[in-house]
Amino acid sequence: MCDNGEVFFQEEFATDIDAGLPRFWARFISFCRKLTEQGAAQGFSIHGLGLGFPGLVSKEGDILKAPNLAPFNGMPLCGRLRAEIGVPVRVVNDVNAVALGECYHGAGRDFSDFLMVTLGTGVGGSLIIGHKIWNGIDGAAGEVGHIAVKPGGHLCGCGSRGCLEQYASGPALVRICRQFWFRCKTEGGAEGLPQTAKEVADAALRGQPAALKAYEVAGKYLGQVFAGIANLLNLEGVVVGGGVSANYKLFMPSLRAELDCRAFSVSAERMKVVPAALGNRAGILGAAQLAREMLDRTGAL
Ligand SMILES: [Zn+2]
Repeated sequence: MCDNGEVFFQEEFATDIDAGLPRFWARFISFCRKLTEQGAAQGFSIHGLGLGFPGLVSKEGDILKAPNLAPFNGMPLCGRLRAEIGVPVRVVNDVNAVALGECYHGAGRDFSDFLMVTLGTGVGGSLIIGHKIWNGIDGAAGEVGHIAVKPGGHLCGCGSRGCLEQYASGPALVRICRQFWFRCKTEGGAEGLPQTAKEVADAALRGQPAALKAYEVAGKYLGQVFAGIANLLNLEGVVVGGGVSANYKLFMPSLRAELDCRAFSVSAERMKVVPAALGNRAGILGAAQLAREMLDRTGAL
């Protein structure tokens, strides 16, 4: 990647962790070596590696918890990669990488301090303070999706109840839409009942009342949490990304109303809520920025 965020090489492969960690690891290392070789062929040399990982990552780059990639639990990923590839490595949570990408190249460019929220299968979060990731003492900061919005509410995968993730993620939108569906529809039964977040979005865009209600509920709880964060930190903004944010306008009215009525007016007026700008590129650019910061600190660049 160059200074303006241009990506020189990009390649994707499926994680397929079900085939076992050794197979994944072999593919991943060979992928890193291939990128290094491609770079060398174009006159580039690789000085460092930045990586966004979907899980809880310690400041040292050890994987503390990986709910969707369980074989990585407890792995000293940073140290192992460094030993294999031979360059300095920094590993952070994937939403932190996305936030850093938006901070330097996307919707967070005008903010020094902002919250990044990703709405997808879950609700991810990352706090950027002074253009840097705020990790917290154990690297676990920013988990906005697991702030409780409804005491005794829906059971969450984290073990708690009533977390924001249970009201604003894609699966939550489907569940809430289904709950309202039978209340709103007087005839037709389950015909056309949305099965996926995409179908809920499509129904809402057609004006279907249950689907619109699901987005209204999601916006209300997002606004409730953002108001609490505005009161606590007086941030400049929130950048909202992830698949669900493609229909950002559907939940913004209830989100903004809740934020404005719950937060102190100074903090509410200051806090802009904007959609992410980079899509899937944010994590790539953020990971590259991580490597750059690491090398700047050590004087290697
Ligand atoms: Zn939770």
